[in-house]
Amino acid sequence: MEKLQIDLGEKIYPIYIGSGLLGSLREYLDTADQWVMITDENLDDLYGEPLRQAFAGKTVYKVVIIPGEESKNIDTVTEIIDYMHEIGCTRQSKLLAFGGGVVGDIAGFCASIYMRGIGYIQVPTTLLAQVDSSVGGKTGINITQGKNIMGTFYQPQGVISDVALLRTLPKREFISGLGEVVKYGIIYDYAFFQYIRAHKEKILSLEQSSIAYIIRRCCEIKARIVAQDEKENGLRKILNFGHTIGHALESITNYEKYTHGEAVWIGMYNEILLAQRAGLIKQEYFQELQDFFIDMGIHYDLPGYDTEALLDKMSKDKKNLQGKISFILPVDRGSVVEKHLTREEIRW
Ligand code: ADP
Ligand code: ZN
Repeated sequence: MEKLQIDLGEKIYPIYIGSGLLGSLREYLDTADQWVMITDENLDDLYGEPLRQAFAGKTVYKVVIIPGEESKNIDTVTEIIDYMHEIGCTRQSKLLAFGGGVVGDIAGFCASIYMRGIGYIQVPTTLLAQVDSSVGGKTGINITQGKNIMGTFYQPQGVISDVALLRTLPKREFISGLGEVVKYGIIYDYAFFQYIRAHKEKILSLEQSSIAYIIRRCCEIKARIVAQDEKENGLRKILNFGHTIGHALESITNYEKYTHGEAVWIGMYNEILLAQRAGLIKQEYFQELQDFFIDMGIHYDLPGYDTEALLDKMSKDKKNLQGKISFILPVDRGSVVEKHLTREEIRW
């Protein structure tokens, strides 16, 4: 098991990464007067019993939500908060988030508002949540008009990333999460990109040490970017590579056709093409990236979609400047720039 310390100035917490870590949850249990675990139905079916054993006789209350983004709303939050109050949770009580990004976002949000904030521990169960949601402290829920409109910045007290949990994760969800992993290599660390490419087969077959390494490296990179953002204005924006097109694509397809990670894969690929058309990326590097993406065998096409509708969505982004759309584009190995492009410059 590896321990990574996340130091974001005002708050420091550990991320444990390894295989078969559920047992270590027991150590946390004495730190609160009551525990409430938030999880979803799929995870409860798979891990309800192993978790009960891991808690070794200690009572942990449980709220099981319906899987998926539809649960990320204020009704679920109210239900959880009501339940916590009903069973007598105090400011010394804590939440345990056991699930993917959806469970993590809801549980983190509830922890940040219950009695003005209580502690919580995250056990991310998807690759996406292990590499992305466990660093940065973003919590949030959706409203009818938009995603993550209500939310807080609230750091967990600890994260336990158990790579063995990924064995039951549907392949589609795993590949989706891998998109964000590749993103870290492209925006920040070419050596990491090379590692992913060289270990592709091992990663896809869930070889535990490669997976543990990529999770650790992504968390390290994200922590470094997030921590530096206070000083270096706007560095955090580079995390948005692939997301300008990705978010627009998710939105015009009503969040039904693609998972977030799939939209990011497609977004990254098309933003690489954009970097080439704009003459920003070194040709040799462009070829290298394109070869890698094609080798991943994902469908990256956009022409089937209404370009104007995508552009309309992208035009609404708050990072835009004077009517130009903000993109993070790769220029060289491990290096990206922010560029603002007009609609005419973007059209494909
Ligand atoms: P994300 O982290 O991508 O936001 P979600 O919370 O939406 O993920 O979860 C995606 C789906 O995968 C949900 O249906 C969830 O129940 C399921 N899931 C999450 N983790 C696991 C796991 N380790 N094994 C099996 N299914 C899982
Ligand atoms: Zn993302």
